[in-house]
Amino acid sequence: MALRFYNTLTQKVEPFAPLHDNVVKMYTCGPTVYNYVHIGNLRTFTFQDILRRWLQARGYRMDHVMNITDIEDKIIRHSLAAKQTIYEYTKQYTQAFIEDTATLRLQPPERLVKATDCIDDMVSAIQKLEERGYTYNSDGSVYYRIAKFPEYGKLSHHDFSGSLAGARVDVDEYDKADARDFVLWKAKKEGEPSWDTPIGDGRPGWHIECSVMAMKYLGETLDIHTGGIDLAFPHHENEIAQSEAITGKPFARFWMHAEHLSIDAQKMSKSMGNFFTLRDLLGQGYAPETIRYLLASVPYRKKLNFTFEGLSAAATSIDRLRNYQLRLKTGHFADGVNAAIEERTKTAVNVFDEAMDDDLNTAEALAAAFEFVRDTNTAMDKGEFKAGNVASALAFLKRFDSVFDVLEPTPPKGGLSDQEIDALVGERNAAKKARDFARADKLRQDLAAQGVIIEDTKEGVRWKRQ
Ligand code: AMP
Ligand code: ZN
Repeated sequence: MALRFYNTLTQKVEPFAPLHDNVVKMYTCGPTVYNYVHIGNLRTFTFQDILRRWLQARGYRMDHVMNITDIEDKIIRHSLAAKQTIYEYTKQYTQAFIEDTATLRLQPPERLVKATDCIDDMVSAIQKLEERGYTYNSDGSVYYRIAKFPEYGKLSHHDFSGSLAGARVDVDEYDKADARDFVLWKAKKEGEPSWDTPIGDGRPGWHIECSVMAMKYLGETLDIHTGGIDLAFPHHENEIAQSEAITGKPFARFWMHAEHLSIDAQKMSKSMGNFFTLRDLLGQGYAPETIRYLLASVPYRKKLNFTFEGLSAAATSIDRLRNYQLRLKTGHFADGVNAAIEERTKTAVNVFDEAMDDDLNTAEALAAAFEFVRDTNTAMDKGEFKAGNVASALAFLKRFDSVFDVLEPTPPKGGLSDQEIDALVGERNAAKKARDFARADKLRQDLAAQGVIIEDTKEGVRWKRQ
């Protein structure tokens, strides 16, 4: 069966193909950079990485945008407390986010965009909403009038009829299942950062950020919009209300949401204080691959309860796969090909592919790999596995690892020299020229893991250290 995903908008599993050519236009709500991300956040980002990688395995190219929310209520509070500007304050956590995601081997999105770099675009979007009658002003702030958008609630499947008027909300965060007019532009408050613009001196609300950054880089209709399930309402509902009011077109075709990572049966969250950062776990001696494996192993729409036993089990599973790979590479097998084993390998590939096509069923994909390892290990013990069976078994492991990426141990950190970086950037350019995008992406990711960011500009390719 074809590639298919669960779409929160339709509440159905639907066949997926991008709207234009073979490029998938995808938007991800990025982190609010007021602290280190925790492994709950990273579960959602790992899901997006698995999604990216599987789309690429299926022959698509990615055009993926992620925002960095670097202006928001909590950021302002924390930066004021730290006596830093929001730029100083958010820079350190933006860098930490880039490092942490690279450590977890998450492919960087094609574009990582800061909200504060798009203020003008947000102002124009709010002006368009004003022209179309979707806004009202109060005390220098601009609000979205959700009663003007009858489809409000179509993503979160709440029926708001009868309650669409009246109360409004100024804060970026609220979680009651209660529809309220939300703020698009907040009037300047003394001591807070602000921008003097044609719609007043102030700053944008959180929701307008994502609508604007998504459409600026990806066009009016995205193929996929992703985030954690807690963002579906109100944030994504508000993104739809804003974007569709501006364009009159569907904002995103597929909405994909990751379930929560919990701990002791409670959602892991910064505000509850029940969280581990990636750095906490690395400090306790866990390898990045182990954490990656744990986060990826449970299908993204199922809750994942974090435990240290789960982490140990992930480490054991990775060891089994690495030992198997080593046996394949170094074992002595009799000449010839065992046709039945070639068939077994083909079945493993098919079952793996089918599991991933089925809304990224990573648990079944892993089961396909482990059953294959068990069966072929037994065949090796019995002398039935032949030298001619090695290549296809290794190819299956390679396919497996193009998604899970856990077989290579993380090397100890050592800085690259400028010459070494130049050489790797040159290799990436050559790979791109040869249209070997997988190799080009891999090089970009390797460099990101070493703290080097590549930028494709009109003038050519540039790189910089973080
Ligand atoms: P934030 O920085 O709070 O905006 O969160 C960044 C991303 O992490 C969003 O997509 C959230 O939905 C997601 N997220 C937050 N907490 C969890 C959790 N416990 N499990 C999974 N995803 C989460
Ligand atoms: Zn967003």
